[in-house]
Amino acid sequence: MAFKTKLAEHEIQLGTRQYRIYPEGEQIAWIWQLFGANRFVWNQFIATFEARYEANPELKFPKISVLKSWLPLMRKEHEWLKRVNSTSLQFTVERFSDAMWAFLTKKQIKQGKPRFKSRKYYSQTATIKNVKYQTKTGAQAQIAVLSPHHLRIGKKNGITLRTSSLNNLRNVRIQKAVISYRQDLDRYYISFSVVKDKRQLAQYQVKSKKTGKSVGIDVGLGKEWLVTSDGKRFGVPATFKLGKAMLKRQSHCDRNRTAIEKRVARFNQSHKEAKIDKYDYANWQKLRKTKSKYQLKIRNIRYDYLQKVTTELVKSYDVIVIEDLKIKNLLGNHKLAHNIANASWGMFRRLLVYKCEWYGKKLIVVKPQYTSRICSECGKKNPRFAHMKTRDWLAIREWDCPYCHAHHDRDVNASKNILARAVSLGSKISKIQAGAQPC
Ligand SMILES: [Zn+2]
Repeated sequence: MAFKTKLAEHEIQLGTRQYRIYPEGEQIAWIWQLFGANRFVWNQFIATFEARYEANPELKFPKISVLKSWLPLMRKEHEWLKRVNSTSLQFTVERFSDAMWAFLTKKQIKQGKPRFKSRKYYSQTATIKNVKYQTKTGAQAQIAVLSPHHLRIGKKNGITLRTSSLNNLRNVRIQKAVISYRQDLDRYYISFSVVKDKRQLAQYQVKSKKTGKSVGIDVGLGKEWLVTSDGKRFGVPATFKLGKAMLKRQSHCDRNRTAIEKRVARFNQSHKEAKIDKYDYANWQKLRKTKSKYQLKIRNIRYDYLQKVTTELVKSYDVIVIEDLKIKNLLGNHKLAHNIANASWGMFRRLLVYKCEWYGKKLIVVKPQYTSRICSECGKKNPRFAHMKTRDWLAIREWDCPYCHAHHDRDVNASKNILARAVSLGSKISKIQAGAQPC
């Protein structure tokens, strides 16, 4: 419940959009001051509460409004905090409060105690809320897009930043922005949480005509990633070669890291005064940067591919039926794990859910049991598959039904069964997600 988003009735959350920023000189100093101030406030709060708890464990944790009232005092005491965007400090206090409440009430099982932050962390972030402030000429937003490649943050003590293309920020409202620095890539990013007017979404629905078609989709685990009940096939995104190069880098990098960590530990053991850090090793840093670049590239290719496929599916069918695959269960099976993670099934489903809503289409999720081992013509289970090992089963691409002698492609048959299940189950469908209009 980190940041309570205020949505107007007609607005819809669109998620986040990330852009690269290219700060220079003073802008870098500005950003690092922002990081530093947020870290300082966070650490101060933690120190205060640790001391408080030690002195009197019975004391109750105060409300957020009380915590926030400490901020002006802090700014008075530490003059330099005044030069920093105040919304971002407020956000840090909110996050601290949430983290403490989660820890105290144990809402999440693994929720640990909030910890001190270090400037050596792998990534530094600061969040700015896009609240309006008053000027002589009227209300202005904290974050303003000046041109497709420039944006302005803050008021008089703010900065203008050069960015990657901001074109898809048009017609949306920015709720907050997270500025981040990734040490391994040595890059700066800004990501926006954006909302859109629902009335604008109507244009998507007008654009996408009703096709009157329904489709079942089976997730393939081999070379084919998706197979539809009318025989369309989508391959696995072509990241294979990149992936191989990345694996090589990764193992190289890991081996180096282990060696360096050992060396650092040994050195620090014998030199009590002058300690060294693994981050001081320039070659390892370089290696790490290359590795991270590969990972990012693969992620981007995959994401782009998923966007294209889901848009195509949503545009060409009115009803889309998928299996409710429990990804975690499947990931337990080691041989399949690599393929499923690779196939990004979870992300695919998330994209489908919201796109179906935008385009006014229907998404149905059915139970996955036996969908691939039943004949889609006569509906009988093929006894040959009953006790087959997973590996053998995966090797079967085509088969003939022993009862009605229909010839099946394994994946097409499965997707037909998935579609049929949605139709026959009718109201018993395990979950119906999204989709305002019935078909
Ligand atoms: Zn049959």
